[in-house]
Amino acid sequence: MVDLQGQYQKIKEEINAAMQQTLESCYFIGGPQVSSFARKLEEYLDIKHVIPCGNGTDALQIALMALDLQPGDEVITTPFTFAATAEVIALLRLTPIFVDINPETFNIDETKIEASISTKTRCIIPVHLFGQTANMEPLMEIANKHKLFVIEDNAQAIGANYTFTNGQSQKAGTIGHIGTTSFFPSKNLGAFGDGGALFTNDTELAEKMKMIANHGMKTRYYHDKIGLNSRLDAIQAAVLEVKLRYLDQYNALRKEAADRYKQLFEGVSSVTVPFEAPYSNHVYHQYTLKVNGNRDEIKNKLFEQGISSAIYYPVPLHLQKAYKPYGFKEGDFPVTEELARKVLSLPIHTELNETIQQFIVNVFKSTLS
Ligand SMILES: *Cc1c(COP(=O)(O)O)cnc(C)c1O
Repeated sequence: MVDLQGQYQKIKEEINAAMQQTLESCYFIGGPQVSSFARKLEEYLDIKHVIPCGNGTDALQIALMALDLQPGDEVITTPFTFAATAEVIALLRLTPIFVDINPETFNIDETKIEASISTKTRCIIPVHLFGQTANMEPLMEIANKHKLFVIEDNAQAIGANYTFTNGQSQKAGTIGHIGTTSFFPSKNLGAFGDGGALFTNDTELAEKMKMIANHGMKTRYYHDKIGLNSRLDAIQAAVLEVKLRYLDQYNALRKEAADRYKQLFEGVSSVTVPFEAPYSNHVYHQYTLKVNGNRDEIKNKLFEQGISSAIYYPVPLHLQKAYKPYGFKEGDFPVTEELARKVLSLPIHTELNETIQQFIVNVFKSTLS
């Protein structure tokens, strides 16, 4: 689905030098390299605080912990996401409340949020799925009206821009109270191991989140809160600082690849290519088709020809065994359920070229007849 080797080969010297420098410094956890990367990411996102942490799941958990919610408080999110988003809600003994998605963008349908708000609702977690943001302006209006926190799960859309109706743009993950991301190797900004970060313009929240990520201590061995151990290591920060310089270029290459797919799929009636919302550019973390037809057969035939494809996500969270106790059932979120049966993601990455894509689409078309 990705070509991390091809990407590494192109920037090998820069990456190796940065890693070597970190080795020589012997600062492996924290230290100047981690701070330097955090400052660079703050500049890139145009946000006051970036707090690095261990991974994207921890980032979500730390964000929720910083809001001082009470067990039983409700958090609204989408059932069409990677489990991490809802898992941290459940782990903290909060209650996940799912809201159906928009059939075109795969993101939480902001027009359905208000109907799910109760007196226990405290927070909304939109997920910017596959590389395109949720519709943040109306979502923030709803949140402000009901005094709810917003945590943007931006693990899949780093570098995307959301454009408000007044024409102003903001980077994905910097619009809500807190943004979170993951630096898992296959993400658009991927490390060579695990990593994650939190973003906020709120200095008080930033201090709290920094503390929570570090065993709840501000002064060493004085624990003011129950926290966890969640750190970005310096070697990952070194890799990420190099790759951050290429992020816009990488996202542009993904978009070019998506445009080529779109052309190649023109006239194929059983396939719907990704929709690009007017309010967000798309950084194509995934290239996800809606397929009318025998998806599994297509997937198998592609595999036989050496082409990977993937189903993100085959089972919506509300229908997963682990989430049964929350009482959702089949039919609760019809859009999500239908899309879970139709989606198929094709390889998309920075090293994709027209020849490979032509081959992929030709094989794809041959499976349809
Ligand atoms: C990858 C991902 C996460 C989790 O990130 P990790 O670094 O793997 O913990 C959370 N949410 C979404 C939407 C993701 O894609």
